[in-house]
Amino acid sequence: MRDAETLRRPRRRVGFRPVYLPEFPPTPMQPQPSAAPPERRVFCNRTLNMRSIRAIGFDMDYTLVHYDVPAWEARAYAHVQRRLLDAGHPVAALRFDADRFARGLVLDLERGNVVKANRFGYVTQAAHGMRALTHDEQRRCYSQVWVDLAEPRWVFLNTLFSLSEACLYAQLVELLDRGELAQPLDYRTLYELVGSTMDAAHLEGALKAEIIADPERFVPLDAELPRALLDQKHAGKRLFLATNSEWHYTRAMMSFAFDRFLSGAGWRSLFELVIVQARKPGFFDGTAAFEEVVDEAGALRPHAGALQAGQVYRGGNAQAVQDHFGVAGEDVLYVGDHVYADVHVSSRIRRWRTALVLRELELEVRHEQDFAPDAERLGRLMHDKARLEQEQASLRLALQRHEHSEAPPPGITADGHAIRERLRSLRAESEALDTLIAPLARRGAALGHPHWGPLMRAGNDKSRLARQIERHADVYLSRVSNLLYLTPFGYLRAARGSLPHDGAAVEPGV
Ligand code: IMP
Ligand code: MG
Repeated sequence: MRDAETLRRPRRRVGFRPVYLPEFPPTPMQPQPSAAPPERRVFCNRTLNMRSIRAIGFDMDYTLVHYDVPAWEARAYAHVQRRLLDAGHPVAALRFDADRFARGLVLDLERGNVVKANRFGYVTQAAHGMRALTHDEQRRCYSQVWVDLAEPRWVFLNTLFSLSEACLYAQLVELLDRGELAQPLDYRTLYELVGSTMDAAHLEGALKAEIIADPERFVPLDAELPRALLDQKHAGKRLFLATNSEWHYTRAMMSFAFDRFLSGAGWRSLFELVIVQARKPGFFDGTAAFEEVVDEAGALRPHAGALQAGQVYRGGNAQAVQDHFGVAGEDVLYVGDHVYADVHVSSRIRRWRTALVLRELELEVRHEQDFAPDAERLGRLMHDKARLEQEQASLRLALQRHEHSEAPPPGITADGHAIRERLRSLRAESEALDTLIAPLARRGAALGHPHWGPLMRAGNDKSRLARQIERHADVYLSRVSNLLYLTPFGYLRAARGSLPHDGAAVEPGV
């Protein structure tokens, strides 16, 4: 048996990230219906038969239209910065750092921190402002606290749009600590200031006008994407778009990303319904009325009665969409990038099937692939280490019993002197193993994000983000065009979940 405590304890710290020892044996990848490159697969939490899906809904931003994160978020950051400057806040010297934070981290509004938590909510990494907390600081803050997203203290970073907001918040926390902000705010009020200013920047036209004026700079194209949607449509699935973006922005972005690949037919031909300013997540459980968008300029008129195929609507609600298609919740697949607004609520309220788009996975899966030979070696070394530790534990018990003139544990016949000798040599062996393990473990923990490590792992466990995903996303994928490999007829079976006692019956005991 391996000692879970030993395997989980952080051994060394590198920057933001403690090094954890790896799981052994590694979990195998799920089989795929076709030969997709590893980073382009559709990963399955809950069995999904594409043949039983009758309607597919798509979110737009960071789903059908991906953005260059440093470019887009830098502009969002700049607009918020300008507004804060205009309001008299001393933020002129601040610069956006796209690599500092990651989706799935959590803001702690009580302490002005950014934390990474594991699936149980225990904090495994933390930063105050832009500075990583030391191991002791982290323990002092969080040994008695766990992240419960239902509490207003915590703000989950649900989407790549959150990265500019998190960076600005962390930088303002530092200004606040140094007494450089004019108003005496607390960390929560500071977040409200950043959040409301960010909302205003997204809603007001100037930021999006910049994107529309120069889409090449912000939108990396994906030539396979229209093909993936056409395959689904030609297989009889009814497609719809439901985005929180405004009509004029949606039209510009969708035309840019799709029209060149559709030989004459515009992007609208793909979708039976287009819904803009859907106001997700309320869209999924509300009863808001639809308005019709009646011309290209976005003029509106109230809508009553059944929805019409080919029409563009503003607002509305998911029940009416389902009624239009005449399908049950489990017949609809909704594909989006926002962990809460797109996936959590649509699955919980409507029982729609859900797919979460996580572009960050591509880099991470490639890193994991490159690291695979070392991961295997590390696994073997950890296995050896666990055996040595188990033998040491048995010998210590034998010594203890010897001191109390009791019978030794089964299989140990040596006397006290021989046991001490053996323990000395085991210690030396264990230390030698550690010198091999440490650099490999450090490399393993450096996969994925440069500061926060792998997106879906926290230490040797699943991250809070991974927990959200496994509960609410039936499948997850790095980009929508990965559906090409799944095909409209694919059947994804969930892997048999791994349990700590798996393999106990076949592995030799340690
Ligand atoms: P969707 O992902 O297609 O539903 O669209 C997301 C919309 O939400 C885009 O129009 C974004 O500009 C907008 N958005 C993203 N983050 C924020 C925010 O923090 N405040 C307000 N709007 C946001
Ligand atoms: Mg989106």
